[in-house]
Amino acid sequence: MTRGVATGTATGAGFVWDPRIASHVYRDDHPLRPERLIGVHDTLERLGAFARPDARVLAPRAATRGQIERIHAPEYVEAVMQASADPDADYTEWGLDPYGDTPPFAGMHEVSLLTTGGSLVAMEEALAGRLRVAVNYSGGLHHARARRASGFCIYNDPAIVCGVLADRGLRVAYVDIDAHHGDGVQAAFYDTDQVLTISLHEYGPIPGLGRMFFPGTGRASERGRGAGTGYSINVALPAFTDDTAYIRAFDAVVPPLLERYRPDVLVTQQGIDPHFTDPLTDLKISTRTREHVVRWFRSSPYRWVAMGGGGYSLDAVRRTWALEFLIMLGAEVPDELRDADPPVWTGAKRTAVDGSTDQAIREALAAAW
Ligand SMILES: [Zn+2]
Repeated sequence: MTRGVATGTATGAGFVWDPRIASHVYRDDHPLRPERLIGVHDTLERLGAFARPDARVLAPRAATRGQIERIHAPEYVEAVMQASADPDADYTEWGLDPYGDTPPFAGMHEVSLLTTGGSLVAMEEALAGRLRVAVNYSGGLHHARARRASGFCIYNDPAIVCGVLADRGLRVAYVDIDAHHGDGVQAAFYDTDQVLTISLHEYGPIPGLGRMFFPGTGRASERGRGAGTGYSINVALPAFTDDTAYIRAFDAVVPPLLERYRPDVLVTQQGIDPHFTDPLTDLKISTRTREHVVRWFRSSPYRWVAMGGGGYSLDAVRRTWALEFLIMLGAEVPDELRDADPPVWTGAKRTAVDGSTDQAIREALAAAW
């Protein structure tokens, strides 16, 4: 570890929490329900997680305008501020559509400053070496673009964190395990080798519907540009990827590429919409995958900042993110948090999923610098 990153053997884990990051409503029928974090928090409290000596509850602070504008255009921030004060006007040119994925709602700017600031607080704690990891489950809003809201995301906190770290001269590895491609983060660092982005996600036509799974990007051939060529890595997984296939893909791509890249900081987006009960996606992983992946993050030698992301099955969100935080703490995981009977394919389905996954692995590795 060089370039001013604290070294040490911090063991604790920080959990960003404030009831205000779990109380906003995008729209009454909207699938992203920030209240889902209350279940995660209350489960951890009931299990005594926050009473452990290594646990820290971190209060978020509002991000500054300057931090937001590390990624977003000033005109876009102005539009979000207006939408926040007067959500009934027309903001569709900025990706804010009352009937679409990302509706304007009262107070959206202020709460987004707080969810973004939570990721920045987590970053500072992890970077200073006070904690092994700090996680902001209200963050991970990886689809937002410089001038446009997208896919439930208003300000792109993972990109802001990666940008702030890169501005300090640090090498950053961003690993996105949400079901959807981390397109906004990839776009923000497409031209640079200072931020390596790796996204594992569902890619292709939605089974039974034919239209492309959101956002429709994330092929292995999207590998960066100029100095960034080979530093955008995409593992384009097939629908129905189960634990067996997902764990093989993760192990084949993430540890070896991080070992080669040697980042100063690891930034992870841990959306739990690849869960087999999630209503919006077709990946079929369970808590088994997440135990494996989060244990690997914790065992890695890198400073680590974690964020949430998608997750639309409230019970899967509650159990999996509580389980992940216990692993971050090095605590025992009670069986009540684990999936009892996740899908495991056999026969022709096994062969098909494994074949497509192996192809995704080969293409991702071949795309690397
Ligand atoms: Zn997602």
